[in-house]
Amino acid sequence: MSILSEPYFHNEDAAFEHLEQALWRDGTVCPHCGVIGHATKLQGEKHRRGVWKCNEKECRKQFTVKVGTVFEHGRLPLHKMLQAVYLMCSSKKGVSAHQLHRTLGVTYKTAWFLAHRIREAMRDGKLGPLGGEGKIVEIDETYVGGKDKNKHHNKRRGKGGMDKEIVFALVERGGKVQSHHVPSVSAKTLRPILEKQLAEASRLMSDDGGARVGREFPKHEAVNHSINEYVRGDVHTNTIEGYFSIMKRGVTGVYHHVSPQHLKRYLAEFDFRYNTRVALGVNDEARMGHAVRGIVGKRLMYRDSFAK
Ligand SMILES: [Zn+2]
Repeated sequence: MSILSEPYFHNEDAAFEHLEQALWRDGTVCPHCGVIGHATKLQGEKHRRGVWKCNEKECRKQFTVKVGTVFEHGRLPLHKMLQAVYLMCSSKKGVSAHQLHRTLGVTYKTAWFLAHRIREAMRDGKLGPLGGEGKIVEIDETYVGGKDKNKHHNKRRGKGGMDKEIVFALVERGGKVQSHHVPSVSAKTLRPILEKQLAEASRLMSDDGGARVGREFPKHEAVNHSINEYVRGDVHTNTIEGYFSIMKRGVTGVYHHVSPQHLKRYLAEFDFRYNTRVALGVNDEARMGHAVRGIVGKRLMYRDSFAK
């Protein structure tokens, strides 16, 4: 059966049940008092869809599975939001808000906000340090955006006259990636990231650019691109360069222009897909499951980020 035939993509009751199964694996969770598995589903015409009532004596409040998630204040039917999650999880380079607008039959503005909600769900706040004993971690930086010739002059950024944003990333060879939008590539900016995100026992590899921060780490090796050295034994940065090429093709090809303010959310999206890629044993459906489970507890952060 085609995954697109799944009832939760078409039927609102099924969509609620799908989300309930994904988020309430140990039973309903009352968002008001936190009690687990102690609520009754309110059925019948007069009740909103998917409403439960907490059975705790002191609580007795009503809730749905959307409360406290990035979907809470979305006005779209849940089954359409799940369609959007699937589209964003299954296309390697991402899906533009224009594409979502056309495919889902919603306004562009709705599509744009929905896509950002889903990116927030994809953000992995808990991804621990990469690497470890016997593992290789590659680091590099790249520059994105700034190709838009019509961009207003006062929006140009400093950085030595360069109209681009800097992305610094670490990738564990055969493992996961972590991207950071950074203001500069100075050791001062990059050192705290490496100290926090690189497991100490890892072998760290960079090109000559990354050497300025990498040399502070004991197991660091660098290839010297400036003298055309790209591989020396197993020392290279091909993995991180491969990742950057997917990310940049997505950012420039699908999203055309990503504003600096939102770049971190796009990076979260590309990191998410890489970290749940087929080579790590994750298929499209399972990847969607990861994204759906990621919608919990991010509502406030999502709101905050737009309030600024
Ligand atoms: Zn309760």
